[in-house]
Amino acid sequence: MAKNKMMAQVFYEPRKMVYEEVDIPEIADDEVLIRVKACGICGSDIAYYFGDSPLETATGKGPLILGHEFTGQVVEAGQVAETLFQKGDRVVLDPLQYCYSCDICSKGQINLCENKAVLGVSVNGGFAEYAKSKMTSTVKLPKNVSYGDGALTEPLACAFYAVKNLQIEPGMFCVIIGPGPIGLMMTQLVKSSGAGTLVLVGTRDYRLKLGKKLGADIVLNTKDKKSPYYCRNLKKEIEKLTDGMFADRCITSTGSVKAMEAALDITGRRSVVVYFGLPGAKDYVRVPALQSIFWDKTIRFSWLAPLTWPSSLQALSTKLIDVHSLATHTYDLKDVVKGLTEVKARKGNPLKALVKP
Ligand SMILES: [Zn+2]
Ligand SMILES: [Zn+2]
Repeated sequence: MAKNKMMAQVFYEPRKMVYEEVDIPEIADDEVLIRVKACGICGSDIAYYFGDSPLETATGKGPLILGHEFTGQVVEAGQVAETLFQKGDRVVLDPLQYCYSCDICSKGQINLCENKAVLGVSVNGGFAEYAKSKMTSTVKLPKNVSYGDGALTEPLACAFYAVKNLQIEPGMFCVIIGPGPIGLMMTQLVKSSGAGTLVLVGTRDYRLKLGKKLGADIVLNTKDKKSPYYCRNLKKEIEKLTDGMFADRCITSTGSVKAMEAALDITGRRSVVVYFGLPGAKDYVRVPALQSIFWDKTIRFSWLAPLTWPSSLQALSTKLIDVHSLATHTYDLKDVVKGLTEVKARKGNPLKALVKP
């Protein structure tokens, strides 16, 4: 291979991703070039690949290298970036490359920046041997966090922000709906934030079982009648478990509108509900308006991970949060399509899959 060339998975259009030789990215003064070590496969990568969601490029289409949850080792730092980073540094990239200078960023609302680039979504990402990042969105990985675990920093930071928005107080009765990888991170965060009782609600036992190991006190399966955790009527079950008081806090880590409406059904006085999972672009949620007023409820939304990266890395470094048992599958760079397809089909009960170039 020529010296300035690398192998990458280039996404052209739905169901067309080619493993091919491309140029190694050239960096600007404020950028770093990294050798990619691990890159998570996210649900959104699957949606892009199968054409369920457009990219955030100008045309909504490729060619683009996907993959936005990744770690690597710095191989080159631009003239400005080298004040902070040196060759050999172990880093994790925040795919949200905010501008940090617009009015919105200046207010600290960086997750709402409209000038941002997103690695693997609007500009090239991590399903490649090399990738580049702005220094302002490059973060050093704590020594005791592996490249594989570190690749889960971005989803963990999103979970962190959502749980922060939940405003848990010690002893509270909390419910999480949706035991996906992020729901299982939330399970650990909610429990370590002091939840008295945590109920995890889902539709697949293998995920609920892991949720139990990671701290859920009670798990409920609302779909599978053969499950030992089967629950026919979630509202009645929560009512029973709380002696008629209903839940203090509920967070939805699924885009299902049914789940979002259920969250309003199972929460009680002064409760806080946080919507995290993404519904469809045309979905609406019905709110029992009068009852929600009478019970002085708060409905909160949560988007991305503003300023929660440091806490997330600390949680990984101190082993407060176990992301290792969530990374169930690993694929070679040449097998990304296989990975996307198998995770979508839930082959081998996957949670999080990592690509390791
Ligand atoms: Zn993601
Ligand atoms: Zn900005």
